[in-house]
Amino acid sequence: MDIIAVKNYLKSLNLPDFRAKQIIKNYFSGHYSDFASMSDLPLALRTDLDNKYPLLSVTESNLLKSTDSQKVALKLHDGLYIESVLMDYGDWLTACISTQVGCPLGCTFCATGKMGLKRNLTIEEIVDQIIYWNIKLFPKYVGRLVFMGMGEPFLNWDNLIEALKIINDKNYLNIGSRKISISSAGIVPKIIEFANLNTEINLALSLHSADQKVRQQLMPIAKQYSLAELKKALDFYTHKTNRQVMLEYILIDNQNDQPEDIKLLKEFIGNNFLFHINIIPLNPVKGGLIPSTHQKEFVDGLDKAGIPFTIRRSVGRSINSACGQLIINNNQ
Ligand code: SF4
Repeated sequence: MDIIAVKNYLKSLNLPDFRAKQIIKNYFSGHYSDFASMSDLPLALRTDLDNKYPLLSVTESNLLKSTDSQKVALKLHDGLYIESVLMDYGDWLTACISTQVGCPLGCTFCATGKMGLKRNLTIEEIVDQIIYWNIKLFPKYVGRLVFMGMGEPFLNWDNLIEALKIINDKNYLNIGSRKISISSAGIVPKIIEFANLNTEINLALSLHSADQKVRQQLMPIAKQYSLAELKKALDFYTHKTNRQVMLEYILIDNQNDQPEDIKLLKEFIGNNFLFHINIIPLNPVKGGLIPSTHQKEFVDGLDKAGIPFTIRRSVGRSINSACGQLIINNNQ
């Protein structure tokens, strides 16, 4: 919902302040999918608002469900689509949020990267993905967020930061910073800016190789920001925030899963004990890369080298909602 537009409209009608507060509370509650169902408002106002403003800036187009996740294609006001995912980890519900329509970074292991960038999402479109899930789940609600959907969050910086303020605000979505993770492909100046914000939001970094040449092949952005620059920015981040950084590492057969890769990883980590490797099994994307057949040897090698790691549990493969599988074509 465009809060400012609705507030201004209510003001133009000379309605008391409490009406705006009531509507905002209703909107963030996840209880209502339109103004018409807000039975605590006068009927004429409900009808009027319903005719003038959509409650959500995103509309469900296609919803897929598996045992552990749901994936929705959401239509935007200009006819473009994004995908958003809900993961059920038993004790908590996590939403995977998109920040762009497509992505300009073209990582070879990622379906979204093959779409190119159509545009950045607005603040409302980012926030409304969460409200969409809350409406679906009511009275349950999304408790954790990962910004790992479509797009590079740090390339939609201004809208991301404004959306995070709304997400964080006790009067709005009230999701605590420690329950939010942002994943970046490594936009070095923004890592520095993020560190300087000094929030408690978690940072994940798509590393995938500590070999400059291999990383460049997998992630074209690595040509712009070298591993040395990235390491410097991440060291600055951990020094400034004293927070752990998850280094995401998709295992790809014979490309980044050899003993030499562990050696390079150890060098990259150096003495920074706040770096933690997160092993992600490669999810197949059409025409894509081959998942590693050396995962066991690789994690044994990490263990031996004393590199801290976890293996991410992959959810949602059966509905193509897992890591790197989000894509939209025009037939949604
Ligand atoms: S992995 Fe992330 S940064 Fe890379 S192309 Fe996909 S969405 Fe973009």
